[in-house]
Amino acid sequence: MDCIFCKIVAGQIPCHKLYEDARTLAFLDIGPVSRGHALVLPRAHAVMLDELGADDATAIGQALVKVGRAIVRAVGAEAWNVLQNNGEMAGQLVPHVHFHIVPRFNGDGFSYRWNPRKLSDDDAAALKDAIARELGSRQ
Ligand code: 5GP
Ligand code: ZN
Repeated sequence: MDCIFCKIVAGQIPCHKLYEDARTLAFLDIGPVSRGHALVLPRAHAVMLDELGADDATAIGQALVKVGRAIVRAVGAEAWNVLQNNGEMAGQLVPHVHFHIVPRFNGDGFSYRWNPRKLSDDDAAALKDAIARELGSRQ
């Protein structure tokens, strides 16, 4: 498969590995936006987060906490972000699920725009209904 992260998982392309277990791998991002910026991903190929099975989802959640904690302590970060892009329109460049761990420091210059709007009661009700149907549950 022509996937750069699958090639890293398979050891065909080198990386600065931080952590691995049976289902996940973590390594330093080649283009860090801050010191310690790393990626955590499932070994198995999937493009988007919603394609993950329960076992990979669980393993990724645990790896994120473990690796995130180690990174922020190692680099002495004041704070950190976990970022995850699904789809090109959302900024995903590599089509293999991955989470960014981004340690934050005062004056690091990293930012993204967040433009909050108002949630109407009507739309909240419609959203809850539609999502509950997808979840197969009722609130
Ligand atoms: P995305 O925009 O898909 O969420 O993020 C892709 C990330 O993968 C980028 O931050 C980019 O620097 C990183 N990246 C792309 N190719 C490689 C690579 O070959 N090795 C490593 N370590 N990181 C990569
Ligand atoms: Zn892949």
